[in-house]
Amino acid sequence: MARPSPVSDQVRSLFAAEQKHLWSIDELHEAVVGALGAADYSTVFRAVTGMEKEGSIHRIDLGDGKVHYEISEGHHEHIRCDDCGRVVEVPGCVLEDASTSVRTSTGFVVTSHQLLFTGVCPECAAK
Ligand SMILES: [Zn+2]
Ligand SMILES: [Zn+2]
Repeated sequence: MARPSPVSDQVRSLFAAEQKHLWSIDELHEAVVGALGAADYSTVFRAVTGMEKEGSIHRIDLGDGKVHYEISEGHHEHIRCDDCGRVVEVPGCVLEDASTSVRTSTGFVVTSHQLLFTGVCPECAAK
């Protein structure tokens, strides 16, 4: 068991706070430094990988070459705005039936999927 540290407490509370649900390690590091005054990037990285290992957060690939993390709470999909780049949660799963057909066609036991819709958000569409 890793010793609890102010950095990992801070990382946990950032994920628990709901203003922002997807975090890259860079963004987490910046927010932790903002809150605590100073923090090693490697300490933030270790806190994040520890949380990923225990299953409380998971990685999301948004196709931008960066690794993002979000809290593992309630499966949902994502949609990204092509104009401003913001990513919003799509509540619920739109692919329940697809898992069955993927299993039939590949023989795999499907354990998860990642789906990213793209489009234009209401704010950008109104411009
Ligand atoms: Zn937008
Ligand atoms: Zn999400």
